[in-house]
Amino acid sequence: MLNGCNEPSAVQTAVDLANTLRPIKGEDTLETVEQLRDFLDEHFPAGSVGPTEPSGPTEPTEPTEPTEPTGPTGPTGPASSAADRWAGLRQPLTRADLAEVRALRETVRAVLEQASTDAVGAAALINGGLRRSRATPELRHDHDRWWTEVTSDTDRCSTHLAATTLSALASVIATFGPSRLGVCAGPTCRATFVDLSRNGSKQYCTRTCAHRASVAAYRSRHSPR
Ligand SMILES: [Zn+2]
Repeated sequence: MLNGCNEPSAVQTAVDLANTLRPIKGEDTLETVEQLRDFLDEHFPAGSVGPTEPSGPTEPTEPTEPTEPTGPTGPTGPASSAADRWAGLRQPLTRADLAEVRALRETVRAVLEQASTDAVGAAALINGGLRRSRATPELRHDHDRWWTEVTSDTDRCSTHLAATTLSALASVIATFGPSRLGVCAGPTCRATFVDLSRNGSKQYCTRTCAHRASVAAYRSRHSPR
């Protein structure tokens, strides 16, 4: 099964990022800096930064005023402790971060949509994104557990997110094959998914969509002509 840098949670983060946009419904839940903050807090909760070290001052809960990007965008040195491994995601967010993450979302969604029909194209998107984000694998240790994790050596929120999500999708493709990435067969859905099930026959994003499709099929079979 997936482990380490292929943590299912990172895979889910990639899927959830893609699905903040619902093309058919026209819904977009990643339109503001506050929505980006919520997404990051939900997927990288403070408790996940490592139990052994204090994580420093907690981030402000008030929406942060737009400011210039803080700090250099160059390397800040390796994130060597568990506590600071998501430091790039804790900083105050700006409109620039939002724009970058929205651009990343397009890449992640394209990978999820294309992989099963154009795996080479999806791989090119992944590799390009990993290069741009300066993705760096690191070996982590916590209590008795060792794992590898891919992060970015920059301090940009979007590059951390790119390194995490694209490497997770790369691992799924390398482990199970590109057909495990897909788009919901529900005619009014088009949400993306990653199928980590044993038999790999997932067609719908959720049970709700699968149920809706089976009800529709039943009705069409039994409706008078
Ligand atoms: Zn669906």
